[in-house]
Amino acid sequence: MHLVKNIVIVGGGTAGWMTAAALSKLVMPHGFQVTLIESDKIGTVGVGEATLPHLRYFNQLLGIDEKEFMQATSATFKLGIKLKNWKNLNQDYIHPFGDFGQSIQGANFIHAWLKATQAGLNSDISDFSVGVQVAQNNKFKFPESNPNSVLSSYSYAYHLDAGLYAKFLTDFSIENGVKRIAGEIEKVELNNQGDVFQLILQSGESITGDLFIDCSGFRGLLINQALNVEFDNWQHWLPCDSAVAIASEKTDELLPYSTATAKTAGWQWKIPLQTRVGNGLVYCSQYMNKGQAEDEVLAGLESKPISTFNHLNFKTGKRKQTWHKNVVAIGLSSGFLEPLESTSIYLIQDSIEKLIEFFPHNGLLQVHIDEFNRLVDNEYLRIRDFLIMHYHVNQRSDSQFWLDMQNMAIPESLEEKLTLFKKYAHVPYYGQGLFLEPSWVAVLVGQGMLPENYSPKLTNLNQADLIQMLEKMKDLIKQASLSLPEHSDFLTNFLANE
Ligand code: FAD
Repeated sequence: MHLVKNIVIVGGGTAGWMTAAALSKLVMPHGFQVTLIESDKIGTVGVGEATLPHLRYFNQLLGIDEKEFMQATSATFKLGIKLKNWKNLNQDYIHPFGDFGQSIQGANFIHAWLKATQAGLNSDISDFSVGVQVAQNNKFKFPESNPNSVLSSYSYAYHLDAGLYAKFLTDFSIENGVKRIAGEIEKVELNNQGDVFQLILQSGESITGDLFIDCSGFRGLLINQALNVEFDNWQHWLPCDSAVAIASEKTDELLPYSTATAKTAGWQWKIPLQTRVGNGLVYCSQYMNKGQAEDEVLAGLESKPISTFNHLNFKTGKRKQTWHKNVVAIGLSSGFLEPLESTSIYLIQDSIEKLIEFFPHNGLLQVHIDEFNRLVDNEYLRIRDFLIMHYHVNQRSDSQFWLDMQNMAIPESLEEKLTLFKKYAHVPYYGQGLFLEPSWVAVLVGQGMLPENYSPKLTNLNQADLIQMLEKMKDLIKQASLSLPEHSDFLTNFLANE
């Protein structure tokens, strides 16, 4: 049995320091040592700025104070993503964190909305989302904890400076006993069972360990270069492979949502932080070159640029196993799904939580490794399909890229999900994980796919009564949303209060 005592984390980007922070709080107290090696010469990607609500639970698990975290990372609140021009030019919708309406007679809200619209209700489904209404009106307040309150049905995440978050977690981890080594790893040595045994640094120093966490970024120093774990390439479904990022001055209006605007051959992000706006274009290099990408991103800026261009290339897909032998890959070394729905930091967090669940306290067990890999796979595959759907379900005819996306072959698993939705507004029930029913409803309805039938459970519901009920619900949501403070006022007060 391979016993574990010393854990070595390779890499100090967002993945490395999130892992170190979590292990320092949840695993080190059981008598384990954690060392993190990072190279000051090899930089980090560090453009991840939009997050999902799950990050709040990660910080809570580690006992991190929300205000201190937001002050340290230039964070603002995020209620969802505004997706512009995805269905067609000049049409937009918000994918919120939270529900639409309430279930009626045991059927999810979309069924009631479909029945009511077929009977003459003239209301967008977003009129029934508190998250969308609060975001659209540029408001913010922490959701109510009382489940009977209409203001309990949304959630929130953050926009943050990922470099500052990694720095914040560096201090946190070191305070909690993690040893940091600055240096570049030159050689990875395996023992005769094929497990990683030691790392040799450029300085000549050797670092041994029992369990290695590969957070070395796209290169995958251990999982790829040393253990040769195969990569499942998904570029034929998600062909964007390049990005150009640039920061611009903060704008007067501090929006409580990210914006993803579909462009000629990809999409542009806009992420408002306390001190600046993060911008960038994700694009497909088969349709656009670097110069065109720079021109397109500049044309889409809403404030003066304050940085130079940062070009990045990536390949969408994932390692066939993200835990192999005594190496667990977390972050970009494990795979990459493009940043449209801000899923990378979430995937880092998810792998960390699973590693902690299956932590080899009494030695490595293959059943734990297999279960970890199965769960990570599930999460990646679900997110992959969700992302492909944004590209595929579009009605644009203004550029070859969007026409090709409409006509591309999609995975069978997505084909099934789209048919389920189209016929009876069904979304497969996952129980937990990312992108549950309200997310599919937000994006599919937002991009123009209306289901043909509603649930037979609503057959006997009187149409006039239903319309009246929905009109009331809409009004309640609108009034409640408008009653909240402006996002920028709320944030300023929250950060200033003792
Ligand atoms: P990296 O940041 O690449 O860190 C790698 C680390 O490994 C570095 O510390 C480096 O020094 C070290 N290293 C490598 N080789 C060696 C060696 N030989 N010796 C010693 N050290 C070594 N995610 C989100 O959640 N939200 C977003 O909005 C978002 N936007 C993104 C936009 C783009 C265009 C891209 C490309 C990514 C985006 N991401 C986003 C993803 C996010 O940036 C990454 O998931 C995150 O930065 C994690 O990176 P990492 O820590 O795995 O790798």
